[in-house]
Amino acid sequence: MKSAAQTVADVASGASSANEELDRSLGAIRARNDELNVFLYVDEVGARRQADAVDEKVRRGEDPGVLAGVPIAIKDNLCQRGIPTTCSSRILEGWRPPYSATVIERLLAAGAVPVGKTNLDEFAMGSSTENSAFGPTKNPLDPTRVPGGSSGGSAASVAADMTPIALGSDTGGSIRQPAALCGVIGVKPTYGLVSRYGLIAFASSLDQIGPFAKDVRDAAILLEAIAGHDEMDSTSLPEPAPSLSAHVDDGVAGKRIGLVRDLVDGADDEVVDAVEGAAQVLRDAGATIVEMSIPEFRLGLSAYYILAPAEASSNLARYDGVRYGLRVDADDVTAMNEATRTAGFGDEVKRRIMLGTYALSAGYFDAYYGQALKVRTMMIDAFARAYRDVDLLLGATTPSVAFKLGSKVSDPMAMYLSDIFTIPTNLSGEAAVSVPFGTGEAGLPTAVQLLGPARSEARLFAAARILEIAEGR
Ligand code: GLN
Repeated sequence: MKSAAQTVADVASGASSANEELDRSLGAIRARNDELNVFLYVDEVGARRQADAVDEKVRRGEDPGVLAGVPIAIKDNLCQRGIPTTCSSRILEGWRPPYSATVIERLLAAGAVPVGKTNLDEFAMGSSTENSAFGPTKNPLDPTRVPGGSSGGSAASVAADMTPIALGSDTGGSIRQPAALCGVIGVKPTYGLVSRYGLIAFASSLDQIGPFAKDVRDAAILLEAIAGHDEMDSTSLPEPAPSLSAHVDDGVAGKRIGLVRDLVDGADDEVVDAVEGAAQVLRDAGATIVEMSIPEFRLGLSAYYILAPAEASSNLARYDGVRYGLRVDADDVTAMNEATRTAGFGDEVKRRIMLGTYALSAGYFDAYYGQALKVRTMMIDAFARAYRDVDLLLGATTPSVAFKLGSKVSDPMAMYLSDIFTIPTNLSGEAAVSVPFGTGEAGLPTAVQLLGPARSEARLFAAARILEIAEGR
């Protein structure tokens, strides 16, 4: 498929039009959405209106924007005014947000064309998109396998050439892991770089919105368009969007990159091979590779599965049958709340609410939540120590290639382990990118992860680009 950068160039020059690009995207969605279940909702009317507006600007000789005419898929936990927004949950059934997320407003201003809302694990809790109330999404590269999750629909949209770019959210790995399993680029930006106004909260101290793309340049262009301070989000960083696409070709000469054993050990052989191959490519491009161990990373999963459910149990208290979506009537308010939540939430969401409520309950708070916060501080310190010695870190994104649908749904621990390599970055609030690199079992893509300190996105993209070039893209 044509890249976003090429699409913008074609639309701006008149070689193509936003409407033609939209037609191509809608055609690809029509061809495979029944099979793959990527989109929960396709907004043909809104997309057409936006495409017309972009084409009109071109006709008038006005600047149509940095994403002019580029179709984009939106994870269905991002609010778009008037468009059904479900979080793949029955509890939000019928709810149409009265406002749009800041990222949607910025996309529209940049000339992008949001085509619809993509499937996810309910409330972004999961790693396979099988926890959706509306059925799983299938991996476009092999429909007997999962696309990863929770942003599985957005990753699949890009992998299936339905849209050149997409937005997801990453709380513990939900952009990078599905990107890895679908063979596309996925970016978890620095906490606060992208406004979360209008992102339905899962775990507020961890959630970040970020891009999916087929190539590094497109990811950089998309992140530039959505990043930068927003007064509607109190956690938003104070500065404007950084310059990223201008640095994609900066290379890695002279950089020191830490190859972290704890982000590789335990992965399948073909994933280990991919990481080692990537290290060699970066070395050949002039970087120094430093073997290192950061044992604190191994504590991330346990800390995350206290902190994220604790925050989720609080965030999800608002779904009470009164303010949004579903209501199941009963004799009194308490019974109505209970009946609504029993019917509206799926099993994984209920499991998280129970875990989180328990971890926060009187008498257990210090033993669980307090301990997990201390681990989080250790993690932040461990990253800081590493970055005194190296510029970036390298490891695997996920332990295996895409697994079979149904193979982990009944074993939550096995599913949680999918995120063992991605969670540390969420706990530290820093940045990381997953890049397809190498091939594994059944010809499926493997991926590597590049991690960097806060605000290191430009450096991460430059390193990711070196790997992309080595893969012939
Ligand atoms: N898979 C992890 C979880 O289930 C991370 C999800 C995410 O990043 N939203 O919590």
